[in-house]
Amino acid sequence: MKNDCIAAISTAPAAGGVAIIRISGDGALKIAEKMFTPTGRTPVLSFRPRYMYSGSISAEGGITDFGLCVYFRAPHSFTGEDVVELHCHGGVELSRAVLKAALKCGARPAKAGEFTMRAFINGKISLSAAEGMADMINGESTAEVRAGSMLYSGRLTKEAQSVQSELTDILAKIGADVDYPEEDIERTELSDIKERLAALRERIEALVRTYDSGKKIRNGVSVAICGKPNAGKSSLLNALLGYDKAIVSSSAGTTRDVVEGELELGGVRFNFYDTAGIREQAGEIEKLGITRAKQTLSSADLALIVYEGAFGEEEGELLASCPCKAVKVRNKRDVSDEPDGNEDISVSALTGEGIGQLKSLIASTALPRGAADGAFIIEERHYNALSRAAEALNSAYNAIGVFPADIVSVDLKEAWDVLGEITGETATEEIINTIFSKFCVGK
Ligand code: GDP
Repeated sequence: MKNDCIAAISTAPAAGGVAIIRISGDGALKIAEKMFTPTGRTPVLSFRPRYMYSGSISAEGGITDFGLCVYFRAPHSFTGEDVVELHCHGGVELSRAVLKAALKCGARPAKAGEFTMRAFINGKISLSAAEGMADMINGESTAEVRAGSMLYSGRLTKEAQSVQSELTDILAKIGADVDYPEEDIERTELSDIKERLAALRERIEALVRTYDSGKKIRNGVSVAICGKPNAGKSSLLNALLGYDKAIVSSSAGTTRDVVEGELELGGVRFNFYDTAGIREQAGEIEKLGITRAKQTLSSADLALIVYEGAFGEEEGELLASCPCKAVKVRNKRDVSDEPDGNEDISVSALTGEGIGQLKSLIASTALPRGAADGAFIIEERHYNALSRAAEALNSAYNAIGVFPADIVSVDLKEAWDVLGEITGETATEEIINTIFSKFCVGK
């Protein structure tokens, strides 16, 4: 039953100032009236929607708490149904006791994401906006949260809908041709449709291209710190992180495995990997470390080539083997501040000189496009749907004027449907269930 009453603790299960128990569906108001007694009023007063009342909350086990209650009348609520929120003190056991009382009064426990799923089913938010909400909740860096907020604000939904409405228009024009094949569409009209299709394809492809940045935002930008033994790689990692993560030693070959450290720069998560120094005469274990260092470098988004003194042949080879952008970092400038002419920046991992500038340089060199405004695709599901829409538009573009209109229509409808998966209009139950099952209970 769609509107049966569900309840859950919507705040995190930990001790805190306030916990919120949310109840949604038919009968939510009745439950509130049973459990909540506004201060100085009779319990049966009719709740004025969107007004906060203070009073006593009857919880399970004969417990009474003093808190707040607010009622949102359908359809003006998060879920689009009658919703009541009880705000009690933020104790783990206390909030459970309040929830249990709500369940006793007729609600059933909400499943993961069920409130948001109802909001989607009742047309309160689009599917991609719901995903944006999850990204905001689960985001581990400012950029990820910002991207989630953009999705939540409906930016992608609006773009998908705008392309869909153009497609509807084009389908109607082509449809006239299918219905009345004797009245051929004029050539000028065909070339106009072709032009419009090319523009739509470009709009979708522009979104698809941003996924490269979106992936980096989601997974973090990986930076490999490489160079010869004793160049100061481990010291540099520690200086960047601001605490000692890697072992620093004057004996060459100390770092034998890859040491990882995380730092947020420009709102984006960066994962730094301190790799074993690459040198010829290495022992067995160190050799393994060197192999791993090469693997790390091969999948890095940015390499820091650390050296002291002068940028030599080995560093040149390292630079040549870099599959990504590289920054040449001359370390130990406290020992010698003589530029060697090859450096992008000079620092001292020991004294901290130049580390702030290095952080800025790393951010400006490696930051994905759009990181500042969150305008990129961050969800793999959206990337896949948009890629399929671009393909369908492309095949419609190639078919127009060559194949009969009904063939072109099939591709256009395919593009329309795939875009509908983003907004939710054409998403299957399986897609919808998968998305909402990733939410937490209470959301
Ligand atoms: P790695 O082998 O490249 O990881 O180098 P380490 O970070 O272990 O450093 C090797 C040696 O160089 C250690 O004795 C560090 O204290 C020293 N060292 C690292 N950075 C600096 C620096 O900026 N200035 C000076 N004077 N010594 C440094």
